[in-house]
Formats: sequence, structure tokens, C-alpha cells
Amino acid sequence: MIVFTDLDGTLLEPDTCDHHAALPALAALAARAVPVVVATDRTAAEIGPVLVELKLDTPAIVENGGGVFWPAAPAGPAEADACYDEIRACLDALPARLKGCFAGFGDMDARRIAALTGLNRARAARASRRGFSEPGLFTGSETQLVALRRHLAAHGLCAERHGRFLTVSRGGSKAGRMNAVRALVERRDGRRYWPLVALGDAEEDREMLEAADYGVVVANPAHPPLAELDGEREGRVIRTELPGPMGWNAAMIEILRRLAGSAEFDA
Ligand SMILES: [Mg+2]
Repeated sequence: MIVFTDLDGTLLEPDTCDHHAALPALAALAARAVPVVVATDRTAAEIGPVLVELKLDTPAIVENGGGVFWPAAPAGPAEADACYDEIRACLDALPARLKGCFAGFGDMDARRIAALTGLNRARAARASRRGFSEPGLFTGSETQLVALRRHLAAHGLCAERHGRFLTVSRGGSKAGRMNAVRALVERRDGRRYWPLVALGDAEEDREMLEAADYGVVVANPAHPPLAELDGEREGRVIRTELPGPMGWNAAMIEILRRLAGSAEFDA
């Protein structure tokens, strides 16, 4: 099988970013040569050290599906299709009446980004090194938002709300990248990976959890539980009782136990 996982609040503790409670399951997956793919809203600069610590040599889905980052790619570090400069050029060319309505991370220093996001200054600096998307604050009217979206669409870009931020990108989602990333890993390893298992804790993970063969909603007491997901009634999507990496570990051990000996699991 192949595993896709969100980081913050899922594989990592929300506050400490610690993953140690998931080590038993990660070791069990490594022993079975199951690839684990990170799918996160973080940038490549933010997750580089995390991939090293997790000992993952797989491609990662970054910036909420905006792009794919693969530091251990067979052909050398790959961050294909980076389009940040194109996004910034489009924003810089906005008509004056729209330009004042949007302040992107590229318009802010690390201190301002830290204040807005709650990240520490060092991580805020890494969060501002973007490849595929530009989050920012939109302060205009609904009419101006429609005009902004029309302007962006003419350049092949879109704007989506993520919490308090409006994020400009080419589109793309964690779910939409799953099959392409699986294909990259299959090509490297010369074998097929199936089924797809996905783990996440938040609304931004919903599509990924629903698209997987097995989805796991990891409990996150910091926000209200997700509304029922497609596949939940049939048991294809399950929920953990424990939060963060503890829940990740328990769910993954249970999935390994269920799939062991079944025809679906040949690892
Ligand atoms: Mg999360």
C-alpha cells in the first residue's frame, strides 16, 4: 500500500510538531517498504528538515496541493513547475483598484507573517519561501473579490479562502496530486502500490480522505469534528479517538493488522 498523510495536527503534534508517538507505526510501515507521502499546506522550505527527521525519501505534496517537492528524487532535488514568480507578476500587474485589496506573504516581512500565522520567526521566514501559491490578506469588497478572481482566471490562476487567508495559485489539491505522486514512486521502485491510505485532521484534508481507499480522520480537539465524510458509513473512512501522532499510530497499526493476510496487501 501507499500512505498519504497531513502533517500538522495529524502526524505531528499541533504545538510541539513532535511525531514520536507515531514511531511504532512508521517503523512497521518502513519494515514493509510502504511509502509514506507527506501532504501539507507547508512550503518545501518548511518541510525539508521534517522529511529528514521522518527519514522519508518520497515526494511530498506541498502548499496544499499547489505542487510537489522531492528532495531525494532519483534525478536530484525536484520542485517541478514552480510558478510563484508568475503569480507575483500577475498580482503586481493588478489594476490599482484591486492592488490595494490584497497583501500577500511576498509583500510582508517575516515578523508580520509570524504575527499573522502564529509561527515563530524562523518558520515564518521559511513559510515565505514559496513555490506554488501566494497566501495573503484580502481586504476588499465582494465585488472586488469577483473582479480579482476574474483577473486571476485570465492568467490561469485562482483564489481560494483558507481560514483568514486568501490563497492565489494555479489550483490543485492534496487529493488531486495523489495519483501523480503514486506514479512517481511506482516508477522509482518498479512496482505498483495499492491500496491508498490517507490520514488528515481538517477540512482541507476531506477530499484526500474521501478519495483514498482507506481514510483516517485523526482527532483534533482544537477544532469541531468534521461533518460526515463520504465512505464513513461504509467504514472506508474511520476516526481515531486519540489525537495527533497517537491517533495516527493506533489507526495505522489497526489498518496494517486488518490488511495483513488480505489479498489487498502484498507488501
Ligand atoms: Mg492538519
